[in-house]
Amino acid sequence: MTSQLIDRFGRTIEYLRLSVTDRCDLRCTYCLPEGFRGFEEPDHWLTFDEIEKLLGVFAKLGLKRLRITGGEPLLRRGLPNLITRLSKLKGINDISLSTNATQLDKHAQTLHHAGIKRINVSLDTLKPERFAKIAQRDSFHRVMSGLMEAKKEGFSPIKINMVAMNHVNDDEIDDMVIFCMENGFILRLIETMPMGETGRNADYLDLQPVRARLRKRFNLEDRILSGGGPARYMQSRDGQFTVGFITPISQHFCATCNRVRLSVDGTLYMCLGQNEKMEFRQALRNGLSEEHIETMIRNAVELKPERHEFRESPQKIIRIMAKTGG
Ligand code: SAM
Repeated sequence: MTSQLIDRFGRTIEYLRLSVTDRCDLRCTYCLPEGFRGFEEPDHWLTFDEIEKLLGVFAKLGLKRLRITGGEPLLRRGLPNLITRLSKLKGINDISLSTNATQLDKHAQTLHHAGIKRINVSLDTLKPERFAKIAQRDSFHRVMSGLMEAKKEGFSPIKINMVAMNHVNDDEIDDMVIFCMENGFILRLIETMPMGETGRNADYLDLQPVRARLRKRFNLEDRILSGGGPARYMQSRDGQFTVGFITPISQHFCATCNRVRLSVDGTLYMCLGQNEKMEFRQALRNGLSEEHIETMIRNAVELKPERHEFRESPQKIIRIMAKTGG
């Protein structure tokens, strides 16, 4: 039997997004509803031992890349310790982090030493008052200070994830391009996905026209970047600036999907936009053998659907992003 994980559609699964908490200190209007109470009980959070055991089996099955996410991952106590442990797993050669950066100034150095080399920072606006409206928290200056600390620390690359929304922040896309050019950040523009009520009610903006406009204004060229994931990239002619487009609605990218998502309660979700899943917490707590866990992982990969249906069935009930591990 091959040691790789290959799904029914011939896609090799080698990338896992690990949500270490579903909690967040922001309440972005398109993500976590204000007053949300459905957070996982701490008893249900996979422990570091459980995560290490499960990912150890995954690594033997060809997992190469790991992204730590949430909720806001920096809210999980002891995170650098977990990262140090996971960076020792044979086969996993790339561990990155997605963060809102509110706490990054405190943790940048420890995270870097623990083995994170690349980070993605969510930043939807460069205007403090607008930030407070979108994130429903007045945290803009903390985010900027976290981001600048990360730059000083030497994370590379630093990617800025901007969820672009109609009449919310679409007038700032060019400013964000210039900000990223000046700071050496890669920009990724993201279309809102209909995940939960919040995602469905977000002000969707089709990024295809934006892409055409930016190409012209900033003299950009299409580029294929290795490990680029779902984003389609363009670069300046000197290669100094890169912008990616994550367009699940206007142009989906499921044919090359190589990833699965593990939520904090031990549920492995096979697709961001579908409900197929496998629950590992009980198996881990019952002390099941590695062989048994391997079989569960292989069975889960068999369930991976061909694609999401965000466009055809936006009403389909899907978890909010913070729950899945975005
Ligand atoms: N807190 C971390 C962060 O800010 O990067 C990690 C988790 S957050 C859920 C991951 C990303 O998902 C963020 O960039 C966020 O903007 C994005 N996101 C959340 N809900 C979304 C939605 N409905 N559509 C598109 N992107 C969404």
